[in-house]
Amino acid sequence: MLGLMQNQPLLTSSLIDFAERHHGDAEIVSRRVEGDVHRYNYAAMAKRARQVANALDGLGLAFSDRVATLAWNGYRHMELYFGVGGSGRVVHTINPRLHPDQVAWIMNHAEDQVLLFDATFLPLVQKVHAQAKTVKHWILLCEADKLPSDSGIPGLMSYEAWIAPQATDYDWPQFDENTAASMCYTSGTTGNPKAALYSHRSSVLHAYAAALPDVMGISARDSVLPVVPMFHVNAWGLPYSCPLVGAKLVFPGPALDGKSVYELIEAEQVTYAAGVPTVWQMMLSHMQPANLKFSSLKRTVIGGSACPPAMIHAFQDDYGVEVLHAWGMTEMSPLGTLCTLKNKHLKLPKEEQMKIRLKQGRAIYGVDMKIVNDAGEELPWDGKTYGDLLVRGPWILAEYFKGEGGDPLRYDAKGRGWFPTGDVATLDPDGFMQITDRSKDVIKSGGEWISSIDIENIAMGHPAVVMAACIGMPHPKWDERPIVVVVKKPNMALSKPELLAFYQGKTAKWQIPDDVVFVDAIPLGATGKMLKTKLREQLVDYQLPV
Ligand code: AMP
Repeated sequence: MLGLMQNQPLLTSSLIDFAERHHGDAEIVSRRVEGDVHRYNYAAMAKRARQVANALDGLGLAFSDRVATLAWNGYRHMELYFGVGGSGRVVHTINPRLHPDQVAWIMNHAEDQVLLFDATFLPLVQKVHAQAKTVKHWILLCEADKLPSDSGIPGLMSYEAWIAPQATDYDWPQFDENTAASMCYTSGTTGNPKAALYSHRSSVLHAYAAALPDVMGISARDSVLPVVPMFHVNAWGLPYSCPLVGAKLVFPGPALDGKSVYELIEAEQVTYAAGVPTVWQMMLSHMQPANLKFSSLKRTVIGGSACPPAMIHAFQDDYGVEVLHAWGMTEMSPLGTLCTLKNKHLKLPKEEQMKIRLKQGRAIYGVDMKIVNDAGEELPWDGKTYGDLLVRGPWILAEYFKGEGGDPLRYDAKGRGWFPTGDVATLDPDGFMQITDRSKDVIKSGGEWISSIDIENIAMGHPAVVMAACIGMPHPKWDERPIVVVVKKPNMALSKPELLAFYQGKTAKWQIPDDVVFVDAIPLGATGKMLKTKLREQLVDYQLPV
């Protein structure tokens, strides 16, 4: 017997319909490429999203055709999320920090029909446009009078001129909720990139889950700043979760330096922000010397790579901002875990609470996790045993676009497919997961594993350290030994012996790095994470001290 409830497909268009009707006057504020600040609200955004849908129909685009973007976080990008997905096409957000050849490769692989881009990326588009074989329409996200006459891109249109004549009404089509809504290529460092293809159903379920109090916990009283880019796993789903709860949205556009982000937080009374540690590192480096404080910020989600304890301390102790440590991946839409305390932890001393906050957190309803050994056997949740982390759930990838890379899942005895995250982790009896490493970054010394994250976190706790990366170097006796590569704060002195002495008592003696290498910068990948593959290439001639 079936239940007798109304059967409505979960479609992303319902999010914007809801926001327009119930939170029409909630603001969306964007710093633009043009340099000014644009503001309107959900009601105005919904109208323009419908104009986008009409304009796409006008181009003759078919159902499920891919519409690509090369754009910063901003209101026009948001309109595309809903206009493209809502009308049954797939919004393909391209990471502009990738190499142009990779951008062209991705566009051809996705078979993008349209590319919409910010003026910042005109030089990139000029480089790739001859190679992008499937794109028929090139649209610059600008006013009609800002369209360059000499772009070298035949038929280039202005976004504003393109949508201006379109009607503001549009009946969002109702279709199977498993239809693709958006896609994102992984920032994988080896082989060709592979795409996660998110469905309407997975996006809406993820948006619901993200809004829960122990997850993102956002509400109609929040002013939310996604610093995490809309081209990095849909800004962790915030463009979907914010309309679901009616939160004010604040978009930083291209201005991602510490000063600009801080000023935007203050100007728009942001209560809630989200970004990778490197972004917050830049902001704290701007704030600390000038002794600046926040007047509105209450919480910040930090994820994408491990959040150093020093950063959690700085936010909480110096600025009164709660850090929500989060873990996920492109293949997971992206949220898997978020770290919030349980009731029983509230009585613990602050230092004990901090040990929990450093973990990547507990699973969100909808995500199931386990750790396994090489034979695929499940390992205990004792907070010590580490193994390969596997996940399953309705917003977790079943296969890559076009079946790239074959079947990625690992099957259990019941035939259920689990996605291997490539992370090595522990799970404690309360279900808190802690990543020790990416499996390819694990350092094995004398048969024992050393967590590069632990070693980096200690270095990051030193006041003179801006960034630290721990990598394993070949060693004749121990197989590998860790070294730590460090960027120092300008104008602060720090010597090798000083940093090595700083490790004493903070970790087991044999885990202390054998050497410190000072560098001006650590290479970052397209999503702001440390690129250890590149760092290893740079240190190819490095020899461990004897
Ligand atoms: P991406 O798909 O590019 O977002 O990368 C996902 C990977 O980033 C994960 O598999 C982890 O290795 C890493 N990651 C994400 N969040 C965290 C975190 N909070 N701590 C440690 N690693 C993380």
